[in-house]
Amino acid sequence: MPLSEFDIIQRYFNRQSLQRDDVILGIGDDAALIYPPAGQQLAIAIDTLVEGVHFPVGTAAYDIGWKALAVNLSDLAAMAAEPAWFTLALTLRQADEAWLTDFSRGLSDMATLAGVQLVGGDTTRGPLTISIQLAGYVPIGQALQRQGARVGDEIWVSGTLGDAALGLLIAQQQLTVGQADGAFLLQRLNRPLPRQALGIALRGIATSCIDISDGLLADLGHLCQASQLGASIEYEALPLSAGACHALEREPAYRALPISGGDDYELCFTAPPEQHTSLLALAEQLDCPLTRIGSMVEESGVHCQDRNGQLLSFASQGFQHFGGSD
Ligand code: ADP
Ligand code: MG
Repeated sequence: MPLSEFDIIQRYFNRQSLQRDDVILGIGDDAALIYPPAGQQLAIAIDTLVEGVHFPVGTAAYDIGWKALAVNLSDLAAMAAEPAWFTLALTLRQADEAWLTDFSRGLSDMATLAGVQLVGGDTTRGPLTISIQLAGYVPIGQALQRQGARVGDEIWVSGTLGDAALGLLIAQQQLTVGQADGAFLLQRLNRPLPRQALGIALRGIATSCIDISDGLLADLGHLCQASQLGASIEYEALPLSAGACHALEREPAYRALPISGGDDYELCFTAPPEQHTSLLALAEQLDCPLTRIGSMVEESGVHCQDRNGQLLSFASQGFQHFGGSD
């Protein structure tokens, strides 16, 4: 007998290890009840993943569960908020028990890691779509925003760039790399680790912040627009993983990916130069690489130069410029 909506909720979503004190009433009633801590503002984000659009058909159910929550956690990290609870709107073609088991495990593992609780949702039938709304807390006035950068601020990114985009090419069988590199790049695509601790640590240090979901060029572009400034960055300063370096050595045609490729869920933020040393110390303390990639400038737009100061232009095909110059 097919599982009813009630069975699905009971079996897969109503058993959670984590019970937060601020959740007065979770799954089971007409609405959840939350007791927000005094002196905190609510930060709320929602993201929808559609099969075939936001993840390839055939992606492991565990990874879908993990990533659906991770992308929202990344948004809250960018706001310097501490994530607390979420709701899940799940649309399924059919109630496949093996799929639901893996999906709910991936979701629950990410939730436990992040300290967030599932408090409600909605289950419907249709093309596979996962929509998660996540809320968290930030002390009044301390949220980071896309606006706020000043001329001369240094531009920083966490972690490494381009890994997930290369991982996607591997998943789509458009790129072949060594086994260890392949495993690493696919992991970066399928199991992003949102920069929760970093976002919170940047309160009072960063002047603006955004998470990199659509690629550095696009997301830093949003930050620039919100801050009504421009950015000058250096291509060679972009932090690359060993796996990405090997892949790009093999396939130089993909050298635009660290700047244009999405899905890395790293943070890009600005801070005054006086914070440089403390940010390097913070990187050590959090065991989270932080790299300065450029500075905020008056002139609007994102300007990317090579190490010789030559401007690089990006068409949809990637670097115009890089054809055979180095
Ligand atoms: P209603 O019809 O009143 O909206 P539902 O029957 O849709 O209630 O849901 C019953 C309870 O189960 C609610 O508390 C709802 O939040 C929760 N719920 C439904 N679907 C999910 C899901 N996919 N994940 C978590 N909780 C869910
Ligand atoms: Mg109701």
